[in-house]
Amino acid sequence: MRLPTLSRLACPACVRNGRIIAFDLDPMRLDERQAAGANAELTEGYLVCRSCRAAYPVLAGTAILPVDVKAHLATHGNVYRRLSIPDPRLARFLLGNAGDGTDFVPFDEVVGRYADLLPFDPARPARPMSSRDVRLDDALRAGGAVGPALEIGCGVGRGTFLLAARTGDAIGVDRSVARVRRARNVQTTDEFLLPVDETRRSETAIDLARLDRRDVDFLVADPDVLPFPDRSFATVIVRDGDGAGPFADAEVVRLEALRVAAPGALVLVEGKGAREGEARDFERVVVRGAVGVIGGIGSRGDASPGDRTAGGARVR
Ligand SMILES: [Zn+2]
Repeated sequence: MRLPTLSRLACPACVRNGRIIAFDLDPMRLDERQAAGANAELTEGYLVCRSCRAAYPVLAGTAILPVDVKAHLATHGNVYRRLSIPDPRLARFLLGNAGDGTDFVPFDEVVGRYADLLPFDPARPARPMSSRDVRLDDALRAGGAVGPALEIGCGVGRGTFLLAARTGDAIGVDRSVARVRRARNVQTTDEFLLPVDETRRSETAIDLARLDRRDVDFLVADPDVLPFPDRSFATVIVRDGDGAGPFADAEVVRLEALRVAAPGALVLVEGKGAREGEARDFERVVVRGAVGVIGGIGSRGDASPGDRTAGGARVR
């Protein structure tokens, strides 16, 4: 997690009770290469709520912010048990709570979202960008998206990188820690290899320079209890599900998206495709004045650039 993200977070346990409370940081490890810079990474630590004192861990650079973090660890243990956790307090907490789990990222999912970044090869047809990401990017351009921006259901992260390229400031959240870790891997690695063809006998590095990797962050969080204050984002993307599957109650997720959207924000809700993997259009929901008031659906409504908060989050 990037250190500046800390000031934008709110305790999810308190959000669920209608209260916006910031965290204190109990840091254990900062990435020393970047510790002095604005992009310092918090590698390990606890985020401790200033009110209810709930403690949310940051493990191997990933902030774990579902409301019920113990239940999350109990059901995603297959990912957490593979982590190397140097701090003994965190390691004890993790081992005491990590159960079994089946949170795996199918490799085809990663290939499907990043293979268009393979270098040009005259011997093979170019891989197109995933149609889901093309639709998102078109909707962002048409809507004049600005930051700060949030993608709910970021999966392996490609949409959040597109969001960052359009807005300069994007956060992706997902319940699948395996996918969030993969997204962070793309963000922080020096080289990311993908197979060049179906046989997978050889791999090639994708062109990471084509991704806006400076302006993103990824968190594990519930889609219906987002760990952010009200009115935090000028652009909010709601995918039709996340790495844990379709959202159980899409309306609740939509209302939560509107809570964190600033007045005048661009809120785009991904529709349902007729078939698995089919590209889906985005519905535009206009947020005016008070949060949660839907001014128009599926159109530009009467939102004007003047309605937009000037790219700034209002953090209490
Ligand atoms: Zn709290």
